[in-house]
Amino acid sequence: MAQIKLSNLRHSYMPAPKGPDDYALKEIDVTWRDGGAYALLGPSGCGKSTLLNIISGLLTPSEGQILFDGQDVTTLPPDQRNIAQVFQFPVIYDTMTVGENLAFPLKNRGVDPATIKRRVDEIAEMLDVADMLGTRASGLSPDNKQKISMGRGLVRDDVNAVMFDEPLTVIDPHLKWKLRSKLKELHQRVQATMIYVTHDQTEALTFADEVVVMQDGEVVQIGTPVELFERPQHTFVGHFIGSPGMNVLPCEAKGDRALFEGHEVMLEGPTHGDGGRTDLGIRPEYVGFGDTGIPAHVTKVSDIGRHFVVSAMVGNTALKAVTEHSVPEPGSEVFLQFKPEQSRVYRDGWIATQERAQ
Ligand code: ADP
Ligand code: MG
Repeated sequence: MAQIKLSNLRHSYMPAPKGPDDYALKEIDVTWRDGGAYALLGPSGCGKSTLLNIISGLLTPSEGQILFDGQDVTTLPPDQRNIAQVFQFPVIYDTMTVGENLAFPLKNRGVDPATIKRRVDEIAEMLDVADMLGTRASGLSPDNKQKISMGRGLVRDDVNAVMFDEPLTVIDPHLKWKLRSKLKELHQRVQATMIYVTHDQTEALTFADEVVVMQDGEVVQIGTPVELFERPQHTFVGHFIGSPGMNVLPCEAKGDRALFEGHEVMLEGPTHGDGGRTDLGIRPEYVGFGDTGIPAHVTKVSDIGRHFVVSAMVGNTALKAVTEHSVPEPGSEVFLQFKPEQSRVYRDGWIATQERAQ
């Protein structure tokens, strides 16, 4: 196992990149702690697979370095990096049995038969495929093929990291949650550095201790699930994580106040900078109802099980509130209250309100 450091990394698939738009990865500096459980989260096309392929050595970056425990591996080929990579679609040998497939990465490295048997049995047990060890892989369902693929990634215990690139894409929804919690359990057991790539926030937040959020070839925030929820550094994170996502409301800002649709809103702390696109960010969970506050017109109320999502208009701006009690009627006039410690201003997308000192 190793600490993995990406330093000043950039990558373009073009032979002569000109502007930032020509780069699939714009400027990446990330350190992955030895033994950490990470998710790499972002929409399709933001550069997740490019980043993984650079770590595993399938791609050489245009600029920058990859360091494993301080050692520069930027030009080392994949087989010398000791990385296990599980892809979106199963990579297994159809002519071999399940057991032979699982044993392959170990056999390939000259591991002794007794150890191979022990590891294969262990992994098969964890993945619920112990009864299939003698079955030929060609006859398996896509679900099971992908499980074997994951098993092949997990069977070695001498790797620097195990990376999963959207591994649950082909898995049936009802099996997804099961495998997801399996992976979490597996990480706790093997303590390997794991990087789990996904565009699905639920997968990222359940698996990872720390989530790296990417957008357009850049890392916008690295944090625990709670940090990403409680204090998004960028409106993209606020909106992408949470359901519904954070309200991003055009406003003006001065000191520790924002002016939103003509109403003064108390902020978490003082706001710095000026100009640029200015928005007030507040999560629906922190918008409450009261006898006084910001007047709003309720347009829709959705019952989503545990709570209600209330859609409302303040002037010309739509926003959402989440509530468990005091559910207003659609069409009614209400007063909204924004929780000050969860109200902050973003300038050109980036957080601009300071946390008030405790
Ligand atoms: P993700 O995995 O987040 O969906 P990718 O890393 O696959 O994103 O892609 C990032 C960007 O790089 C996209 O704009 C994609 O079109 C481009 N890209 C990916 N692979 C190649 C390639 N082999 N050649 C050229 N462009 C590529
Ligand atoms: Mg991808």
